[in-house]
Amino acid sequence: MSVFNAYMTLSGAIDADVLRDERLSRHTTYRIGGPAALFVAAHSYAALARTVAVLAAEHVDWVIIGKGSNLLVSDRGYDGCVITLDDEFSRIAIGDDGSVTVGAGAALSKVVNEALKAGLSGLEFCVGIPGTAGGAISMDAGTRHEWIGRRVRDLVVLRPGEGLHRYQGSDVEWGYRSTSIPTSEIILEATLALEPGSRAEITADMEERLRRRREAQPLGAPSCGSVFRNPPERSAGILVESCGLKGASCGGAQISPEHANFIVNRGGATAADVIALIGRAHDEVLARYGVDLACEVKLLGFGA
Ligand SMILES: Cc1cc2nc3c(=O)[nH]c(=O)nc-3n(C[C@H](O)[C@H](O)[C@H](O)COP(=O)(O)OP(=O)(O)OC[C@H]3O[C@@H](n4cnc5c(N)ncnc54)[C@H](O)[C@@H]3O)c2cc1C
Repeated sequence: MSVFNAYMTLSGAIDADVLRDERLSRHTTYRIGGPAALFVAAHSYAALARTVAVLAAEHVDWVIIGKGSNLLVSDRGYDGCVITLDDEFSRIAIGDDGSVTVGAGAALSKVVNEALKAGLSGLEFCVGIPGTAGGAISMDAGTRHEWIGRRVRDLVVLRPGEGLHRYQGSDVEWGYRSTSIPTSEIILEATLALEPGSRAEITADMEERLRRRREAQPLGAPSCGSVFRNPPERSAGILVESCGLKGASCGGAQISPEHANFIVNRGGATAADVIALIGRAHDEVLARYGVDLACEVKLLGFGA
C-alpha cells in the first residue's frame, strides 16, 4: 500500500484537510494515541467519495471516526488512513413531521439541543453522551433502557465501491452498543423520529440525567466512558469494584475511584497503561466471578 501516493493524490485536490502523521491524541477524548499515517477530514460528500476511491486504489486501510469518545488508539498509532466528517456532514434539519435529519458529523449534543429548541422529545437519554451522530448510531449509543437505534427512521450510508445505500431503521438490527451495519460502510446521514413534547419537561428530564451523570461519573478527567460492556443482568462497574480495583493505577491511567467501569487519564497516560488496567480488571473479574468482560471501547492500531 502507498500512503505516500494517496497523500500526493488527495492533498490540495479535494475539499478536505489531508494530513500526514497526525497525532490521534488530538482526536480522542482520552487524549491518547500515536499518529495516523494519513488523516482526512472530509468536508463534502465528493471529497469523501474521492478519498475512499483513492485509498482503495492505493490499498490503504482506513477507518472512520467521529469525536473519538469511544476509542483507544495505540501508542504507535495507525498505519492507515483515519477519516472524519465535517462541514457538509454536520447539518441538522427539523422536519414538519417531528423528525430530525442529522449529518453523521453533527455533534450529538447539538442534535439534542436542536430537538429541545424545536420542542421535540425522544433524545433526552442522549444528553451528556459525547461524540457525533454517526458515532452514536454506529455504537447504538444510549443507556441500559434506551438507545438511539430505536429513533432511527432511516439512514444513508456510503458503500465504498458501490455508492449510496438507504436503510430503513427497521432493516437494521440494533444491539447493545452494536448494530448490523457493516464496518465497511460509512454512515452519512440519519432521520430520527421524535414526538412533540413540552420544552420545560424535556429540560427538567435532561437536567436530572446530567445531575446523575455528574454524581456517578468522573467527568473531570479524560476517558472513553464505560470501558466494558455490562454482562447480562450485571454491572461491569460493580464487578470491577468488588475486586477492590477502584483507584488502581498504571502509569498515568487509573481505574476511577468514582466509577470502576471508567479508566481515566490522570495525565500522561499511554495506551499501554490503559491496556494494562483493562487486562488486570478483566483477569481479576474472570478469576473471581467467571465473567469474561468484553470491551465496549473500540481499539485502533493494536494489530490483528
Ligand atoms: C464521559 C463519557 C460518557 C459517555 N457516556 C456514554 C453513554 O452514556 N452511553 C453510550 O452509549 N456511550 C457513552 N460514551 C461513549 C461514546 O461517547 C459513545 O459511544 C459515542 O456515541 C461515540 O461517538 P463518537 O463520534 O465519539 O465515535 P468514535 O468514538 O469516534 O467511534 C466509535 C465507533 O463508531 C464508528 N463510527 C464513527 N462515526 C462513524 C460513521 N460516520 N460511520 C460509521 N461508523 C462510524 C467508529 O469507527 C468506531 O467504531 C461516553 C463517553 C465518554 C467519554
